[in-house]
Amino acid sequence: MTAWGDLAEALMAAPDLPEAACRGRHELFDGYEPSSGETLDDVDYRHTAAVALCRKCPELLPCRAYSNEAFPYPLTHVVAARRPQYRIRKEAS
Ligand code: SF4
Repeated sequence: MTAWGDLAEALMAAPDLPEAACRGRHELFDGYEPSSGETLDDVDYRHTAAVALCRKCPELLPCRAYSNEAFPYPLTHVVAARRPQYRIRKEAS
């Protein structure tokens, strides 16, 4: 299946999460895009905020049940209080 087909299938299967705390806050949950100029420290800061939102979210349990199937590791974004891991390359000094 194509990437678009995978995404469409995941969206069709997504549960209704009416009290999702992430609604309107996608900027916290988005993955790291190197071309954006955002630093990994900034990514870590907003992903920490996203995980904190998830931990208070009334939809955490159904979201986690769904996302464990729909978004296996490695993650590209924060979901259900799980976060992607980025390797930090240290510059040679
Ligand atoms: S647990 Fe996190 S990702 Fe899932 S609905 Fe709640 S805020 Fe959104």
